[in-house]
Amino acid sequence: MNAIDPRTVILISGVMGGLMSMVLFFMHRSYPVSIAGLREWAWSLAVLFGAGVLASLGGIAGPWVANITPNLLICCGMYLALVGSQRFFGQTTRHSWHLALIAVVNLLLLWFTLAQPWYLPRVLILTALLAYLTGAHAWLVLRHGQPGFSNGFAALVLCLACLNEIVRLVTALTLPVGNTVFDRQPQNLLHITLYPFLMLLIAIGMLLLATDRVRAQMQYLATHDSLTNTLTRRRMNETCEQELARCRRHGRVMALLAVDLDHFKTINDMHGHQVGDRVLIRFVDTVNTLLRRGDELGRFGGEEFVVLLPEISLPEALLVAERIRAACQADAGMPPYTVSIGVAGYQSETDTVDSLLGRADAAMYRAKARGRNQVEAA
Ligand code: GH3
Ligand code: MG
Ligand code: MG
Repeated sequence: MNAIDPRTVILISGVMGGLMSMVLFFMHRSYPVSIAGLREWAWSLAVLFGAGVLASLGGIAGPWVANITPNLLICCGMYLALVGSQRFFGQTTRHSWHLALIAVVNLLLLWFTLAQPWYLPRVLILTALLAYLTGAHAWLVLRHGQPGFSNGFAALVLCLACLNEIVRLVTALTLPVGNTVFDRQPQNLLHITLYPFLMLLIAIGMLLLATDRVRAQMQYLATHDSLTNTLTRRRMNETCEQELARCRRHGRVMALLAVDLDHFKTINDMHGHQVGDRVLIRFVDTVNTLLRRGDELGRFGGEEFVVLLPEISLPEALLVAERIRAACQADAGMPPYTVSIGVAGYQSETDTVDSLLGRADAAMYRAKARGRNQVEAA
C-alpha cells in the first residue's frame, strides 16, 4: 500500500476522467438528441479532469490552484454528473438548492484553507458533500432506471462511490487524518486509490446507460410502425410464430384477425392524406381499447392490420372481431369509417402463420365482397 503515490493516483484519476469525457462528448455529438444528459455527463468528467490535474499540483502550486479550485471543480463535476442523470431520466433539476449548498461548502473550505487553516474540517465538509451527491445520484438511478444490467451497474458503482466517501468520513472522525491529501495513512491511501477506479466505473455506467437507451430506441423503431405505433409486419410475424409454437407444444388455441379499412382510398381522396393518417391512428386507438393484455396489433400494409388473439377459440374471436367492427362504425370522429374483418382460428398442428394469415385474408375479402363493414369466419 505504501508504494502507492497519492499524487500520481490523483493525476491518473484526472487524466482518466478527461479521456472518458472525450468519449462522452463524441457520443453526445453522434447519438440521437433524444438521449438527454450526455452533454452534462461529458462536462462533469471534463471538470473532474481539471480537478485531478490541479489537485496533483499540491505542494508545488499555491492553495488557490492546488486546493481551492480543485475542491470547487470536484463539487461541480459530481453535481454535473447528477444533473446529467436527472436529464437522462427526464427528471426536473432543482439547481438553486444544490448550487447554494455547493457555494456554502466551498466558502467553508475557503475559510479553513486561508483564514483558519485546518485540514480535518475540510476533509469532513468536502467528503460529506460528495457522499450526499453520489448517494443522491445512486438513489436517482435506482428509482428511475428500468431493471437491467446497465442500470444495475450504474447504481452499484454509485453506491460504492458513496460508500467510499462515507468510509472516508468515518475514518477521518476516528483515526488521524494527517495534514494533506498526500499523507500516507492507509485509510487515506485506500480512499485515494479507490477514487479513480470508481470514477472510471461511473463513467462506464453512464456509457452503458446511454448505449442501452439507444439500443432500446432502435429496437422500438425496428419493431413498431412510425405512424400508428403498432407492430411492424416482421415483428408481428415473429410474434405469431412464437404463439403458434406455444399452441403446438401445449395444445392451446389462438386466432388471427385480418382487418382492412373500407373504401380508405375514398377517405384520402375526399379529405386528404393527413386526415387519412388520423383515421388510421383513431382506428388503432379504438382497437387497443378492446384488446386484452397479450393480444397484439400489427400493421401489415397501408390500411391493413392483423390482430393476434392468443388462447382464444374461433367463436370467441368472432365476438372480439364483431366488437371491433361495431366500435369502428360507432367512432364519433370525422370522417366516419368502417372495417371488414376476416377471422381464422388455429385448427391443427399443420397450421402455419402463412396458412392462418391466408385463411383470415380470404375471409376478409369475402366480407368485402358481401358488402363490407362485416365479419367473416375462415
Ligand atoms: P377497400 O374497401 O376495397 O379496401 O378499398 P380501399 O380504398 O380501402 O382499398 P385500396 O387498396 O384501393 O386503397 C387503399 C388506400 O390506402 C390507398 C392508399 O393511398 C391508402 N394508404 C396506404 N397507406 C396509407 C397511409 O399511411 N396513410 C394514408 N392516409 N393513406 C394510406
Ligand atoms: Mg381498404
Ligand atoms: Mg387494403
